[in-house]
Amino acid sequence: MVETMATETESGFAKLGLDSRLVERLTGLGYEEPTPIQREAIPPLIEGHDLIGRAATGTGKTAAFSLPILHSLARSTARTKPTSLILVPTRELAMQVAESVAKYGQPLGVRVLPIYGGAPMDQQIRALDRGIDVVVATPGRALDHMRRTTLKLDAVTVVVLDEADEMLDMGFAEDIEAILSATPTERQTALFSATMAPRIKAIAVKHLKNATEIHVTRDPVPAGELPKVRQTAYVVQRQYKLAALGRVLDAEAPAAALIFCKTRSEVDELTEALAGRGYRPEALHGGMAQDARDRVMRLFRAGQANLLVATDVAARGLDVEHLTHVVNFSLPLGIENYVHRIGRVGRAGREGVAITVAEPREQGALRAIERHTGQRIEYGQVPTAATLREKRLERTKVAIRETVAAGELDAFRAMFGSLVGELDPTDVALAALKLAHRARGGDIDDGPDIPVVTAPPRGERSPRDLPPPRRGAFRGPGPRLARIFISAGREAGIMPRDLVGAIANEAGLPGREIHSIEITERFSLVDVPEDAAEHVIESLNGVRLRGRRVSARRDRQG
Ligand code: AMP
Repeated sequence: MVETMATETESGFAKLGLDSRLVERLTGLGYEEPTPIQREAIPPLIEGHDLIGRAATGTGKTAAFSLPILHSLARSTARTKPTSLILVPTRELAMQVAESVAKYGQPLGVRVLPIYGGAPMDQQIRALDRGIDVVVATPGRALDHMRRTTLKLDAVTVVVLDEADEMLDMGFAEDIEAILSATPTERQTALFSATMAPRIKAIAVKHLKNATEIHVTRDPVPAGELPKVRQTAYVVQRQYKLAALGRVLDAEAPAAALIFCKTRSEVDELTEALAGRGYRPEALHGGMAQDARDRVMRLFRAGQANLLVATDVAARGLDVEHLTHVVNFSLPLGIENYVHRIGRVGRAGREGVAITVAEPREQGALRAIERHTGQRIEYGQVPTAATLREKRLERTKVAIRETVAAGELDAFRAMFGSLVGELDPTDVALAALKLAHRARGGDIDDGPDIPVVTAPPRGERSPRDLPPPRRGAFRGPGPRLARIFISAGREAGIMPRDLVGAIANEAGLPGREIHSIEITERFSLVDVPEDAAEHVIESLNGVRLRGRRVSARRDRQG
């Protein structure tokens, strides 16, 4: 049996040449190893090369372009204007990327600002005035700020185009051109895109110089290499992930489960939380000394622990004969890793079980895994507290039957005799059942109710795949929505009732069909069902609101 585990040598991130404070930060965040795209993209970016990266989300590409930016900020002195600009297609991504940059750059005191449409302009202007190092922006809003000269790009040394294909799909090509031409020509440029359509290549040819090209592949898995595994995903809001896992484990009662987390910190937290719920979990990660890992593996192999919580790195090469379940408490980075993980069960013709606990925003990633593997992942309903209670009662019943069948009860006969001398025999039996059930953990608290998340119909793309709600996105239960931009806002005296009234009168769409209304200084945004969007736009175009003729179109900022 071969067990190759990563040993505690120099961190993989240090080897890439990153500033030691960043390496320390990543260790602190529990990142064990760079992902393939990080390994390939970080060194050329640190050296100042332009780069074309073909990679989808979930590969760790945000850190791949953020860390080199932070590395160079760590080396620069007092800055007044933004030195890095990251362009992204949607406001959600702007927030997410800005959050990641701030997280990684925390020890450097880096100032990051997401700027996107739909949010108040003045707040963004005040933040820009105070001084920002890294701007993460949607192209439309970046251009707005440039026109008002509240965003100055003459000190920019790095531009990242993230999800370039999405930005082009959304009609941002001209905006991107305008933004790039306002930055110094000697800047470094990195372009990331899931696809390399000719128009993406054209941008690269025009704006990048001697770019290093990297491609993180996702070739379909040959059918013969796929393990025989029953795959189920439980989709719950983030705060219910642990409760959901607890219930699923209770229902499945795995003989031996390997539970995967993305980081060391997540392994430690989950191990502790599971222990608090009465399980006997053991943790395994690269931050542990070799003898501690050996002890954990001995316990797990001997069946003294039935849950092993591990990172991908620590579990590499691990071969456990009696493993029945693989659990993804976090989705892995990259689809190949999903296949590696679930390949741990279902060996030698036995059917294994793979369980994934996912957040609603990860449904797109689940779809991508299905497409990649050609296998279906069922959506499971997290067992209710009542179901679990029933199951536990059933197990106690089975245990009683087995104990009776096994005999050897004579040691208790005298005790029973003396008890029935004073008590009703049925009461004695019931009390004994109660004690037995409790001793088996039958009366544990199942925790809070877990709200059901309805899955989008198959074939429909989820918000993570798609910039919501421009092309009609799924937003929890309910219809697909489209966001409509209307060219009048507070400045024109527009109130929500004006919009509801106009949409009802002109388009015949009742108020209850309008899902949200946002009124900013100069414009308004209204979410309506996707299938009514075109009609609403046509009906509103040219209509007068508060005396002002308005135009309506699909919102570009998503
Ligand atoms: P991305 O593909 O950039 O959207 O990243 C996906 C997720 O993986 C994010 O939650 C990151 O925090 C996380 N992540 C990125 N790189 C690593 C790494 N090397 N180790 C562990 N987690 C990572």
